[in-house]
Amino acid sequence: RGSTVRQPPLRIAHVSVEMAPIAKVGGMGDVVTALARAVQEEGHEVEVVLPKYDIINYDEVRGLRLVKDFFYANVQTKVWAGEVEGVPTTFLEPTSGAFWVGCIYGRNDDAARFGFFCGAALEYLKLHSDIMPDIVHTHDWATAPVAFGDLGGATKAVFTIHNLNYGADLIGRAMGAAAACTTVSPTYAAEVSGHPAIAPHMDKFYGIRNGIDQDIWDPITDRFLPRSYSSADADAGKSAAKAELRSRMGLSGAEAPLVAVVTRLTHQKGIHLIKHAAWRTLERGAQFVLLGSAPDPRVQAEFNALAGEMARAYPDRARCWFSYDEPLSHLIYAGADILLVPSIFEPCGLTQMIAMRYGTIPVVRKTGGLNDTVFDVDDDMARASQQGMVCNGYNFEGTDPAGIDYALNRALTSWFSEREVWGALVAQVMEQDWSWSEPALDYIELYYKALKRT
Ligand code: ADP
Repeated sequence: RGSTVRQPPLRIAHVSVEMAPIAKVGGMGDVVTALARAVQEEGHEVEVVLPKYDIINYDEVRGLRLVKDFFYANVQTKVWAGEVEGVPTTFLEPTSGAFWVGCIYGRNDDAARFGFFCGAALEYLKLHSDIMPDIVHTHDWATAPVAFGDLGGATKAVFTIHNLNYGADLIGRAMGAAAACTTVSPTYAAEVSGHPAIAPHMDKFYGIRNGIDQDIWDPITDRFLPRSYSSADADAGKSAAKAELRSRMGLSGAEAPLVAVVTRLTHQKGIHLIKHAAWRTLERGAQFVLLGSAPDPRVQAEFNALAGEMARAYPDRARCWFSYDEPLSHLIYAGADILLVPSIFEPCGLTQMIAMRYGTIPVVRKTGGLNDTVFDVDDDMARASQQGMVCNGYNFEGTDPAGIDYALNRALTSWFSEREVWGALVAQVMEQDWSWSEPALDYIELYYKALKRT
């Protein structure tokens, strides 16, 4: 960066199995859309190639049209074009019905279905698109085979790890073949550097922190909130959102801080710490709201039990909402005072950044991207100023209850006893920039670097 020589614009094709808002399971879907948009805004040509799932809400795809079809592995595959959030998107639809199964992941033939998609995507890019892109950017195990497939010509692969926990063998092969590899935060990059899939490739491995889409996550324009607000009137805006949230959840309107969790309920997210913190929150006179669901029925059963026990012990102060509900997530980010993210590991994490955008103070475990985005108001002054950041939340180390108690107790005590300090912190965290502008420039620089690699 910083060079005054203008480089030629790039053609970039993302090959992904998730894309927000139409096909999203976790943060990866958000990243693909927001990164594509931010790079496009810098003057490059960007396209996303996605399976044509039956579960997509096609109202959110503009100008969808059938363009052509081709045969790959003896399967007729239709090529559809449209636009998602302003990003040109190509949908591949094998007529075998591999993506007409009512879900993105979770079947025992996921690897075969996505393997087919990767082969078809390569075939499409090489033979059936107008021009082969300069960069093919692929994401996680599901599209790793594109990175180690035969791209042909001068095209280079860039591969991003959103979560090393799934499909490490495929990830290792993609790491070897790609011209450049990234993961989604500097701390996670350092944490995984010893992994056998990563260690041999450290010379071309970079940690670039994710951003959030600040147009989607914006309390000034958010249509899911009872009233809009900015850092200047955060108190009024957050109070209105809190009142609405409480009434929807059947919680009392007493003067109390509200602690929230918005997450997939998986081991990664620190399940035992979430449960512990829920009880600690209630013991301290605060309210607790959880939005999430567990793909594993045993974990879901544990949380059903927890919800029942909390409702009996504290009838009007705790509520668990077991669904995937985007509008409700907006209301929670705005109406909560504290967002808890006690992940055991967290490649980047988006919820802590979204929360801060809405003036909700994060309490996080010091790991991965949580470490790169949350700086403890009591402990991280020096680290924050070194990195040009502000202190903006609370964090803890370790995986035992004492750690999370340490951070959560300090946050709650501050809310109860130093309301002016708390209010100033809320206004300050809302002013931070979590947009994709900076990270997108890092990716663009990396794309040019990848093109130069032989
Ligand atoms: P991960 O990708 O591991 O799930 P991230 O923090 O990177 O975690 O991204 C999670 C994204 O999914 C955020 O945009 C968050 O708001 C959203 N999310 C998670 N659970 C739910 C839910 N139950 N309802 C609505 N949105 C959710």
